[in-house]
Amino acid sequence: MLNLGSEVLKLKNSGIEMLHFDVMDGIFVNNITFGLPILQQVRKQSDITLDVHLMIKEPAKYIKRFAEAGADIISFHVESDSDPAETLKAIRSCGVSPAVALKPATPAETVFDLLPYLDMVLVMTVEPGFGGQSFIPETVDKIRSIRSKITEMGLDVNVEVDGGINSETAAVVRRAGANVLVSGSYLFHAADMAAAANALKEDMIC
Ligand code: ZN
Repeated sequence: MLNLGSEVLKLKNSGIEMLHFDVMDGIFVNNITFGLPILQQVRKQSDITLDVHLMIKEPAKYIKRFAEAGADIISFHVESDSDPAETLKAIRSCGVSPAVALKPATPAETVFDLLPYLDMVLVMTVEPGFGGQSFIPETVDKIRSIRSKITEMGLDVNVEVDGGINSETAAVVRRAGANVLVSGSYLFHAADMAAAANALKEDMIC
């Protein structure tokens, strides 16, 4: 049997600070993964930060369930059918840190009015739905304009990137203002996960 507690401990010991769960409903994206049971199991066995990314059509309906399962952060898509301001409020009222996510083609300005009500903006750097895709370079300008708007408004908001992150793209997005990096394939295929995780955190001098 898979011992989730010791697996998560291994990740923590490699310098990984949060676990990112992709939740897909088969409607908003074609893939289906509904992570509630896994999330509950990990929560029981670890205190690691659980970052839940809802790629679903009606996120507002499921906030409570993911909050109860142990999510620390919940992000949902501005392109979903739920009202963004209401959904952010619902997440906050469950004691969870609220975040919005944007698909690669969605302009930065879409989230500007929401910035005072959230803790993090998740910029998708690949099309949502499947792992292992290549980073879309056009998303870098969007990271930059979201970060400068946050600074201009004097807010304390994290900018997370999700998709195609490796040691090279990590340096690019960090320079553009991202400070939370999601990485799957790159870390799990690395011979030395701790070294790979470290490479994502280091600022490259160019
Ligand atoms: Zn994700």
